[in-house]
Amino acid sequence: MLNNFYLDSHKLQEALLEAKQCPICQIIEDALSWHMESFLSEHVNDVKIRALWREAEGLCPGHTRLLEGNGPPLPRAILYHDLISSLIPTPPKGRWQKKKRSQNNCPICAQVVQIEDGYLGLLAEGLGKGSFLELLENSHAFCLHHWRAFLALSKPGTAQDFFQEKQLAKTEKTLGDLSEFIRKHDWRYQDETLTPSEAESPKSGAVFLAGSIWLGRQG
Ligand SMILES: [Zn+2]
Ligand SMILES: [Zn+2]
Repeated sequence: MLNNFYLDSHKLQEALLEAKQCPICQIIEDALSWHMESFLSEHVNDVKIRALWREAEGLCPGHTRLLEGNGPPLPRAILYHDLISSLIPTPPKGRWQKKKRSQNNCPICAQVVQIEDGYLGLLAEGLGKGSFLELLENSHAFCLHHWRAFLALSKPGTAQDFFQEKQLAKTEKTLGDLSEFIRKHDWRYQDETLTPSEAESPKSGAVFLAGSIWLGRQG
C-alpha cells in the first residue's frame, strides 16, 4: 500500500536546505501527500489493498482528516463505505469483562515511523562521517518530537553533540521571539513594534511543540 519507500540522501539535503519547518516533518509531508493522492487515484478499487485497510481498521482520526483534503470525493466514498460497514461495533458476548481499547494500527502512522527512523538514521550516520554539518547548522529547527527521536536513535558522541548544540541555538531564538512577543504586549512597551519572527512566534511555538499535522496520532 505505502511500501514504496526509499531512503534518499538528496531528499534529506534538500529538506535541510529548503524546508521552512522541521526537515523531517517536511519529508513526511512530501512523501505522504504523494502516497495519499496515488492511493486515492489508482488503488482504491484494488480489493486486496482495501482488505488491508479494513484489517488495520482504517486510519487514525488525524490521518482521516488529512485524507479529506486529497483528491476527488468518489474514491473516499468507496473507501469509507467499505470501512464503516466492516467496523460496526457490537456489544461483547458472554461474561462481561472490561476490554482494552483497540490500538492504533493506522497504516499511515506506521509509514510515518518508518520514514522518521530511516531519515534520522541517515542523518546520524552522515553527521558521524562529517556530512550534512553545514546544512544542519543552517537548517530550520527540528520539532520537539524529531529532536527527541534523533537523540534516542543516535549514539552519544560528536554527531549527537553537534545536533544538540545547533538545536539549542535555534530553540533559543524561538524562545527569545516569544519573550519579546510577551514583553511587547505589556502596555508600557506597546509602542515598540514586533519583528516578523516575533509576530509569528506563537505559531512557531505551536509548530515546534506539535510538529506537522501529517504526523497523525503517533506524534
Ligand atoms: Zn518534525
Ligand atoms: Zn495515522
